[in-house]
Amino acid sequence: MEGLPKFICECCGQLIDQWPALAFGTPSPYFELTEEEKRKLARVSSDFCIIAHPDQTDRFIRAVMYQKVNDHCTDLEYGIWVSLSEKSFLDYHENFNRDDYEATYFGYISNVLPDYPDMLFIPAKVVTRIGGQRPEIFPHEDFDHPFVRDYYQGISKIEAERRIKELFLNKLPKN
Ligand SMILES: [Zn+2]
Repeated sequence: MEGLPKFICECCGQLIDQWPALAFGTPSPYFELTEEEKRKLARVSSDFCIIAHPDQTDRFIRAVMYQKVNDHCTDLEYGIWVSLSEKSFLDYHENFNRDDYEATYFGYISNVLPDYPDMLFIPAKVVTRIGGQRPEIFPHEDFDHPFVRDYYQGISKIEAERRIKELFLNKLPKN
């Protein structure tokens, strides 16, 4: 693909594209707030987001998810957000600077990926990783949703490249 760096793959020995992570800077519920609401109700950093509505507070953390690609050597990486309960959010926050903290939380996927209906509120397991890496998301396999089916069945390389074009390459600044 044009516009991507290349590297020699250890798996097949071929010169292949270095796929970018498809990352979202904020959870979708934050993105949907007005500028005034963002200032008044929300706090966001690279790894945490809190939205304090009058009637409820929503808490999100940044995580990663790997979409299996069936006919290629590498998976497609997503940087997406999940909502957590207050208890889980505080536990993650308190231990954020520990490299060896192991925990598993329940959360809901909180970004909208193109071409999938009703993306929000897909239940997921969120597993912390050692060594300062962001937690990994595993959607619940028994949840009936096209996104969950693709996650477990894998997608094609062509589909992965289509997503990279749609979410990443189209957003690169044009020179
Ligand atoms: Zn390869």
